[in-house]
Amino acid sequence: MASEPRDASAHTTAHNAPVALPFDDADFERATRGLVAQHPGGVIETPIGVVWDTSRYDFIERGSTNPDTVSPSLWRQAQLNNVHGLFEVGPGIWQARGYDISNVTFIEGATGWIVIDPLTVEPTARACLDLANAHLGERPVVAVIYTHSHTDHFGGVHGVTTEDDVAAGRCRIIAPEHFMRETVGENVIAGHAMARRAAYQFGPFLPPGPKGHVDCGLGKAIPFFMPGLMAPTEDITHTGQELEVDGVRIVFQMTPEAEAPAEMNFFFPDHGWLCMAENCTHNLHNLVPIRGALVRDARKWSQYIQDAIELFGDDAEVMFASHHWPRWGNEDALHFLGLQRDLYRWIHDQTMRQANRGLVPTEIAEVLELPPEFRAESHTVGYYGHLAHNVKAVYQRYLSWYDGNPANLWKLPPEAAGANYVELAGGADALLAHAQSRFDAGEYRWVAEVLNHLVFADPANEAARELQAATFEQIGYQSESATFRNAYLTGAQELRNGLPPAMPSNRIGYLDAMSVDQLLDLIGVKLRSEDVGGLRATVNLTFTDSESDVDDRWVVGLSNRTVHYVEGRHADDADVTLSLTRPTLVALSALETTIDAAVADGAIEVVDGDPAAAGRIFDHLDTFMSGFGLAEP
Ligand SMILES: [Zn+2]
Repeated sequence: MASEPRDASAHTTAHNAPVALPFDDADFERATRGLVAQHPGGVIETPIGVVWDTSRYDFIERGSTNPDTVSPSLWRQAQLNNVHGLFEVGPGIWQARGYDISNVTFIEGATGWIVIDPLTVEPTARACLDLANAHLGERPVVAVIYTHSHTDHFGGVHGVTTEDDVAAGRCRIIAPEHFMRETVGENVIAGHAMARRAAYQFGPFLPPGPKGHVDCGLGKAIPFFMPGLMAPTEDITHTGQELEVDGVRIVFQMTPEAEAPAEMNFFFPDHGWLCMAENCTHNLHNLVPIRGALVRDARKWSQYIQDAIELFGDDAEVMFASHHWPRWGNEDALHFLGLQRDLYRWIHDQTMRQANRGLVPTEIAEVLELPPEFRAESHTVGYYGHLAHNVKAVYQRYLSWYDGNPANLWKLPPEAAGANYVELAGGADALLAHAQSRFDAGEYRWVAEVLNHLVFADPANEAARELQAATFEQIGYQSESATFRNAYLTGAQELRNGLPPAMPSNRIGYLDAMSVDQLLDLIGVKLRSEDVGGLRATVNLTFTDSESDVDDRWVVGLSNRTVHYVEGRHADDADVTLSLTRPTLVALSALETTIDAAVADGAIEVVDGDPAAAGRIFDHLDTFMSGFGLAEP
């Protein structure tokens, strides 16, 4: 089929009619203030391809009126996120913005650069460091600070320093405690599903254009390259902790379990610079991202902002963050922080107020509207998060996904329900005719729900797929949230062009950085239950590459089709005792070897017993395939 995206409907055109937005132009002044230089050409590439190209978004011209296929409010945010360059934030502090979804900050220390958040990937980070060195004077990078455990804040670390420099102590890497565990942990249990869903959130496969990708809200786009990871050399463990980094004093505030499981704000008392990490950005953030994650704590998030005001507010002269542009002046910074604090708390409190009045998530999401206090300033508008989605995150945190109605407690899955709904509608043609009439009336949210039943009952029904694609598209065109737009337009793209290719993807995330218990957790999730009925095994493992002084001993068991493990000892009655390295466990988890093969090539040494017992666990793992259906079966 592969039809092209449609034009805006009359309903969408009316919805997106250009309006005078209530936001002042100060954001454009902030976003462009202190420009030092821009990347020459705006293209960052490697021998294997283009990683970043600012010209892809040239159609979003500063000051232009939104096309009818883009929300006017999102269009303004997309113009702001188009701004790119190296900017002076204050004497001795600069940021490169617009060359990745996140910002990198450079601080002049006594002997070199202190780099805050080296972007998502090595090429963009290196390009930004080159820009700083070329225009501000060449300096070595003597410290890197990761504000938190999300990829867009550390994945480019190899672009600003080297493993050798870190190992030799020439470059410190400073991060909030539990950084490695949380960074890697996000990929262990749910990483495969999350990676697939992330394509809907960020829209990397949508072509840039008025009918395609315009922005991510939080920043322009995700760069095309693989992120890296280097472990921190120093942990920050408590609020009030102070470090001197290359002659620069920094005071830290821990903010775990809010925007990220490991995160910190910090303040430079000799300069009045306040870094709010990703706890404050110039849009409403996600209480749970649509890629999926553990639900975040809106109450803590808000309280951390209040605590930052208490700790640093009197002396803050500049507030900067790892996305978007800074705020200058104490009064403006405090005003900004106060509204950000109240935003997350308001969503939390009002969601739970309505829940306690008996409303269910879909009702709360419909009842709550962002009040005028928050609509008056663009940094509290949902370009990244979405109020309707965040409401459900708050509800889920306290009350689960279940709304309390038994009719929803044990629903049929989509394909079975779909077939029944199609029958109820009087057949596919009748359902389609109903959907078309409601589409013509502009009732897109309802049409999406109805057509979903037909697409799941009969994914080969081309008319249903095309109308559902057109429906998603109009909702996407109308969305003020970039992530909602990306999700709907990616769904439309897949309904028209088919799913991405299904490829085995056993190398997920940061497999090589996973600890033994994380790898064993992953192995448990991959166990093919149907193949191990009646099997039992007790396997002693000794990791010969352990960094601990004593051998790293584990017992891994299989019982009742389930893996369990214990650290620190061996079992006397084990079926087998094996010596191996952690990379061999990685290879087993990624189905790159088997117990027999690893024994044969010497990667596993059989100390005692029959290695076939280990095969009962490690040779019964699933291969996860990429490209599974989301908007279709
Ligand atoms: Zn980020």
